[in-house]
Amino acid sequence: MKRREFVGGLAVAAGVAACSKADPEQKTVAAQAGETFEWSCVTSWPPKFPGLGMAVENLAERLERASAGRLKIKVYGGGELVPPFEVFDAVSRGAVEMGHDASYYHRGKVDAAQFFTAIPFGMNYMELNAWIHYGGGLELWRELYEPFNLMPFLCGNTGVQMGGWFNKQINSIDDIKGLKMRIPGLGGEVLRRAGGTPIILPGSEIFTSLQTGAIDATEWVGPYNDVSFGLHKAATYYYYPGWQETGPGLECIINREAWDSLPADLQALVEITCQSITLDMAAEYSHGNANSLQQLMADPNIDIRPFPAEVLQHLKIIAREIVEEMAANDPAAAKISKPYYEYLEKMEANTRISEQAYLETRTS
Ligand code: CA
Repeated sequence: MKRREFVGGLAVAAGVAACSKADPEQKTVAAQAGETFEWSCVTSWPPKFPGLGMAVENLAERLERASAGRLKIKVYGGGELVPPFEVFDAVSRGAVEMGHDASYYHRGKVDAAQFFTAIPFGMNYMELNAWIHYGGGLELWRELYEPFNLMPFLCGNTGVQMGGWFNKQINSIDDIKGLKMRIPGLGGEVLRRAGGTPIILPGSEIFTSLQTGAIDATEWVGPYNDVSFGLHKAATYYYYPGWQETGPGLECIINREAWDSLPADLQALVEITCQSITLDMAAEYSHGNANSLQQLMADPNIDIRPFPAEVLQHLKIIAREIVEEMAANDPAAAKISKPYYEYLEKMEANTRISEQAYLETRTS
């Protein structure tokens, strides 16, 4: 006891002495470290939209709190400062410092960026995290965005989505023929080659289009977001799984000069906080999806059912063909496609004997 008191007393005394002795210098360091940064962040989401929009609000709130106010970020919903799909350009040219969106929106401009959100029949949530942070994905992503003056960070994930809402049954691949479905990106291209008609619609128009029969089907996200849009009131069949978006990652993009202006500790804080948002958003979706699914399962008007295996197999073959064509036409896509699929193959073996085997046991 005496020894502990002595050591404790000594430490306090030494601390006081060191503090008082170094005081003038400490003030200088504190003044430099106290430089504040006020940034704007544009997004593709409706303001404070559950999941997607809250993730970026949480990012800003956490960064301000953890930096003691040194990094303040004002978040703008899609269309408030720039249109929802112009986030990439606005951050790239330095009109704002930061953006939050999905990299597959850059299809047609940077096709290869789609690997970092979702490829049909691609990686799930944790496999994508592994590839980005341990498997070389982040380095490929940074290289891809370098000409655009952007630093990308993985910042959010919805987890595997649902296949979508249908007003007719899908019992064979023939039922896809002529199907008018709201489905963007590579998933839409897969649908088109299977004989369907992909339609692009902003989120705000999906419900009415489905209800009036302008479209036969739509995918959106999963139970959490779909119920908040009221999609269960406009269609009967809710199909799974979401082969088109198997664990889509969201991105935080930062203008290169803005990034370089941050001191090292704030840069570290941004990196760490983006990772925390990826975890947090996946948790929010798991929680929200489970609650909304419970509501849908209790609804006698809703029929929740899996796609037939042969339909999924057919779509999977088409998806791989489309990605191979993309790689054949675009060297940047080729450079990412090869390591992506090698990693996916390695992960499939691991997931099969771990998560997949366990989940099959749990539900059998
Ligand atoms: Ca979707």
